[in-house]
Amino acid sequence: MAIMHAGERPSGKDRTGSLSAFVFAVAAVAMLGAVAAAGRIARDRAAAELGARAAAAQSLAGASLASVIEKQRLIPMVLARDPEVQALLEAPAGNPRNRLDAKLAAIADEAASSVLYVVGADGVAVAASNDNGPDSFVGSNYGFRIYFIAAMKHGAAQQYALGTVSNRPGLYLSHRVEGLDGPLGVVVVKVEFGDLEARWRSSGLVVQVTDANGVVLATTNPVWRFGATRPLTNPAAERAALQIGDAELPPVPLEGSGDEMATLDGRDYVPASGSVGAAAPGWNLSVFLPAEPALSIAARSAQLTTLLAGLLLGLALYAALRRRRWALARQAALAAMNTELERRVASRTEELNRSNTALAGEIAERAAAETRARALRDDLAQANRLSILGQVAAGVAHEINQPVAAIRAYAETGARLIDAGQMGDARENFGEIAGITGRVGAITQSLRGFARRGKGELRPIEVEAAIDGALSLLAGRIRDAGVAILREPHAPGVAVIAGRIRLEQILVNLLQNALDALAGLSDPTITIGIAAGPDSVAITIRDTGAGIPPDLRNQLFMPFTTTKAKGLGLGLVISGDLAREFGGALRLEPDTPGGAAGTAFTLDLPRAP
Ligand code: ADP
Repeated sequence: MAIMHAGERPSGKDRTGSLSAFVFAVAAVAMLGAVAAAGRIARDRAAAELGARAAAAQSLAGASLASVIEKQRLIPMVLARDPEVQALLEAPAGNPRNRLDAKLAAIADEAASSVLYVVGADGVAVAASNDNGPDSFVGSNYGFRIYFIAAMKHGAAQQYALGTVSNRPGLYLSHRVEGLDGPLGVVVVKVEFGDLEARWRSSGLVVQVTDANGVVLATTNPVWRFGATRPLTNPAAERAALQIGDAELPPVPLEGSGDEMATLDGRDYVPASGSVGAAAPGWNLSVFLPAEPALSIAARSAQLTTLLAGLLLGLALYAALRRRRWALARQAALAAMNTELERRVASRTEELNRSNTALAGEIAERAAAETRARALRDDLAQANRLSILGQVAAGVAHEINQPVAAIRAYAETGARLIDAGQMGDARENFGEIAGITGRVGAITQSLRGFARRGKGELRPIEVEAAIDGALSLLAGRIRDAGVAILREPHAPGVAVIAGRIRLEQILVNLLQNALDALAGLSDPTITIGIAAGPDSVAITIRDTGAGIPPDLRNQLFMPFTTTKAKGLGLGLVISGDLAREFGGALRLEPDTPGGAAGTAFTLDLPRAP
């Protein structure tokens, strides 16, 4: 025999539990993955957006830088052709410098140039927009400046450098002034980008303008100026180009510049770079937009949204699962109920079948018992009739003797009358004989009927005729006892539904009991009444006997109730039975309070139409 230990095989519930845990774990991992992915995607998208904004800002900043440079470049170009400039350079002594200074100052002021000045072919400044200030350029020698040397050589030049006097950086744009006998000198404008830088700063931008070697020239953060955004291959040449002496070119704390994320001074930025164009060849302008907190916010809100959506989805799934589980459980319960119902119906049907069979058996038994009882009743009735026959036989014999004697007398007289030729009288005698024979025949027919077993057929019987039949059987006894028979008047021809012989049997039983009760009493009388209703007829037989003692009245219709020495106590029982067979009843009339002594029985029978 196999013994299963607890825990050998998980129960259905345990399996479901571990399955749920597994599903939950998978869902949790999937959710974490989705949250992380959503964060990444949102971050990338926000970075791309920032990149686009940075690119837009870069092109705008580049354009404004280029436009400033191009505008300033025009000034030395135009001034190089100015006759006053040319005149001054041709004959510095003979021309009033002050007037030109004022003009330069006015132009510089108008064009927002830093300084505007004219340098002679020897490199010494002869006129300057700042001549009336403390740091006037006039008299200073700029022969070493690249913008001077190159312009003298090539016609025009530009150079970003630190101001030797002001020590402020700026872009120097120079243009050669042509004379009849060769170059007269150079007109120079210095452009400072302080305003532009301030504008960029105030619009929240981080901007770096670098030269071809990656050295920062203009910037929103002055600390980075002249810093190297990438390692310099030739720092000395760079220093020389910028003419910043032996100033250091420290590395700018910038990592990963390009289109990707850049880290500047430890902070993340989304960069956008591009050249400044023909306005400043080799220059590059980079705009950096702070990546944080924009990217983190975007990532976090996407993560949160995904988390919420995931939770909601999970909740919905959970609810759906629960609903499904509930529905399944309900279905199972319903199925179980159905099975139970079917089982009960089957068992009940079987029970009913059994009891039906039993009932059928019982019914058959009852029917058999009924048949036996009916046969018994018939036997009893027959016995009662035979006993009546026995009792009335002597009386009837006496009753017949007398008419037979009369017949003989009429016959003898008739014979003598024929002999005497008195034919008329003789015929009368024969008529009498025939009449008497008829009466005798009626009596014997009644007797024969009593001896035969009743056929059980019911038909309309004239009540009067039945009473006559019964009385004729008892006629001898009535006469011997001197009992008066009173027949109350009633409507003629009343008929009931009954059997002829059995109806007479009832009446004989009642009349015999009355006669018994009247034995030895004075003025014995039996009154017979017929009361016809619309549906029934009541036949009452009343005697003037001693009556029935009260303690006997309730048992009268029980078998073997008798007060007579030779009585059987069956007469009333059988009579009641026969009355019921006809659809009627036999009852004892209640005592008439304070009335005459005696007994009355009433036989109620259905009236024949
Ligand atoms: P039985 O005549 O054999 O006694 P019944 O059933 O005919 O049986 O009558 C039962 C009893 O009812 C009688 O013994 C008698 O005491 C009483 N009884 C019936 N009819 C009368 C009557 N008319 N007057 C007085 N007593 C009666």
